[in-house]
Amino acid sequence: MSRLDSHLEAALERITRAGQRRTLRATTLLSDGRIERGGRTMLDFSSNDYLGLARHPLLVERSTRWAGRDGSGSGASRLVTGTSAAHLALEARIAAFKHCEAALIFASGWQANAAVIPALLAAVPGIAVFSDRLIHASMHAGIAMAGVRQHRFRHNDLDHLEALLAEKGADAPARLILTESVFSMDGDRADMVRLADIAQRHDAALFVDEAHATGVLGPEGRGLSALVPGKVDLVMGTFSKALGGFGAYVAGSRVLIDYLTNAASGFIFTTAPPPAVLGAVDAALDLLPGMGTERAHLAALGDRLRAGLARLGLDHGASSTQIVPAVIGPEDKAMALSAQLEEAGFLASAIRPPTVPAGTSRLRLALRAGHSEADIDALLGAIEAAAGPDR
Ligand code: PMP
Repeated sequence: MSRLDSHLEAALERITRAGQRRTLRATTLLSDGRIERGGRTMLDFSSNDYLGLARHPLLVERSTRWAGRDGSGSGASRLVTGTSAAHLALEARIAAFKHCEAALIFASGWQANAAVIPALLAAVPGIAVFSDRLIHASMHAGIAMAGVRQHRFRHNDLDHLEALLAEKGADAPARLILTESVFSMDGDRADMVRLADIAQRHDAALFVDEAHATGVLGPEGRGLSALVPGKVDLVMGTFSKALGGFGAYVAGSRVLIDYLTNAASGFIFTTAPPPAVLGAVDAALDLLPGMGTERAHLAALGDRLRAGLARLGLDHGASSTQIVPAVIGPEDKAMALSAQLEEAGFLASAIRPPTVPAGTSRLRLALRAGHSEADIDALLGAIEAAAGPDR
């Protein structure tokens, strides 16, 4: 074993001893809220294919057709030869969808956050950053890359944000608030109207990650930033969840997008997304405005699941979306429940530290438009049976 590998083995052993060793398992996303793993078809409450678009015939057809027409690879990064007419047309469509002046496509949501944030912070030395405690790891990565200290406010506690804004960074050249419109582990929403008002009153720019809201919430699935038109300076979202594809977008003013085109490392130094990826997103954008029935169905399923969990005495936090946590508490209990559910034919992943705070290990239940009310009731029955009367 090489010297490097022996260090890596020791590090892996530490991860194993902490009970946090993970492995990859081959899984296939199916239609109708199902998933296949290990030769078994299960009800899926773990993926983010909220609207069932990942296997939609229109997306698959356009993705295939664009690959057939334009090839499998884009050949280069965007600023060299990787920009096709399809990239520019799709960016214009996204800008229109988000009611922003301009938009830019990124290879993934992680990459967008990790690229955009350091680019923004580099343009304004001394900028003061205010972030919700539960922002996604990719935003933390971006802030860490920039080497900037952030003022973190308690999750969704806008009184705390206001207090921090009153106290910190008054003499900074600019201030930036970072948050998500729907939080990925809790399924709760930021109060966009109040946030926009606070940002305006304190002369701070607002950056909102709409990874889990895009396609699902807001008029025509345009996200919660659509509730405060023109008041979010920078909106980011992914194509990889409700849009059933891959990649991400950032939307905002023309000057913001022109700047990022010239300064965001994770945009400049990576190969442009290929035609198949663009085709799927283009088809998803055709479908989204007409998916009001699916969005309403998802909302109703969420209400049904939350009511059922409450009946079982399980805390679902402040969830009000298609993401519903069932907070179990101790890590081993959440893991055991998830394993029992899998045995019973329900894929409901346990989320544990460090992804969520210690003592709040949970099942993160993600709903799909393909689920029926009977599917939700079956899940609740299985949770009740697995968790037992002495829970
Ligand atoms: N932001 C949030 C809030 C997310 O939940 C995720 C996905 N886990 C990302 C960004 C990253 O997006 P992607 O999966 O497209 O890299």
